[in-house]
Amino acid sequence: MTSIKLAARVTNIRLSPSTAAAQKVRDLKAEGREILNLTVGEPDFDTPQSVKDAAIAAINAGDTKYTSVNGTVALRKAIQHDYKTRLNIDCSLDEICVGGGAKQVLFVALMATVEEGDEVIIPAPYWVSYPDMVIANGGTPVIVKCGEDVGFKLTPEILEAAITPATKWVILNSPSNPTGAAYNAEELRALGDVLVKHPHVLVMCDEIYDRIWYADFDACSILGVCPELKNQALVSNGVSKSYAMTGWRIGYAVGPLQLINAINKLQSQMSSCPSSVSQAAAAFALTADQSGVTEAVEVYRARRDRAHELINAIPELSCTLPDGAFYLYPCCAGAIGKTTPSGTKIESDLDFGLYLLDTAGVASVHGGAYGLEPYFRISTATSMEEIEAACAKIAEACAALT
Ligand code: PMP
Repeated sequence: MTSIKLAARVTNIRLSPSTAAAQKVRDLKAEGREILNLTVGEPDFDTPQSVKDAAIAAINAGDTKYTSVNGTVALRKAIQHDYKTRLNIDCSLDEICVGGGAKQVLFVALMATVEEGDEVIIPAPYWVSYPDMVIANGGTPVIVKCGEDVGFKLTPEILEAAITPATKWVILNSPSNPTGAAYNAEELRALGDVLVKHPHVLVMCDEIYDRIWYADFDACSILGVCPELKNQALVSNGVSKSYAMTGWRIGYAVGPLQLINAINKLQSQMSSCPSSVSQAAAAFALTADQSGVTEAVEVYRARRDRAHELINAIPELSCTLPDGAFYLYPCCAGAIGKTTPSGTKIESDLDFGLYLLDTAGVASVHGGAYGLEPYFRISTATSMEEIEAACAKIAEACAALT
């Protein structure tokens, strides 16, 4: 059989490493191995019943046709209200687009703007998809390391030094996947001051986790803090994480009209519109009583605190306290250079992750996947029992290193 010659935009990118890690867990479980799975990137809660009911009501009311490309008015009004009340962002309904998940919206935004040779600044550690999304659209990812010394956050100095005439975008993710670090208003203001001086640079603010929030300051967005970035900022969010709606595939963004129109134009040729039923459910989720979110956050917070305590009690590991999201990003520098009971030297966080999987049956994602080593990401979107059992196994595995 002759093989198909695939396009470079496909051959140049990787399958998402977290998807690959999740698949590995499924394969091992299928072989009968008991695995404590800390790779999960989605809430372990079910979608609230009231949201499901809203979707069923939409189906029965005949909301089963194409909607406008940029999303229903009801959903965009809900988004507009949320951005205004929570983040102090003013926008018209035309400045909002809705797509099949935040991932799709971000991808299409890059597709609408990035040309061959354009640079996209990505602070590391980063969400695994950003570099590949940039490459798939012909751009060049410019990875800037933002280590623990700067709280895993981009600083004005690092940003200023990375900007060139070819810079198209800088990506900010707050709270971050994988570290949980979130920017406060002062930090955003300082970054905004740099961006205002470089009007050719757009800023992509991925705030998908901003309701899963533990910090003692309120969630904020660079566009709310610096309204003068109105022509430069795209602020995206979605219902996947906050409302346990990953499978419904609704994400959205607010941005400059010209950019939103370009995204809509591409979407009109790609998908026509996001699912009508999911949009009805998302509009309900955003406007309904938010106590379910508050309750889920308290559950995540207790798990975060416990995991943080247990990980920091392991001499080889250390971990910062996340401001939001449902991940921890422990440093495993203390394990690097040590030898496993079977005589293998641990040279990298990848080796450490494989050691945990093989000997302790604990699945995590190694820091190399997020562009900053030596770390590993663990998810707290799983039960307290699983977290405690996994941390005990990790402690045992670390103690066995010499
Ligand atoms: N941004 C980040 C940082 C994420 O972790 C994810 C989900 N893994 C997304 C965006 C995409 O979310 P959605 O389900 O809305 O596509």
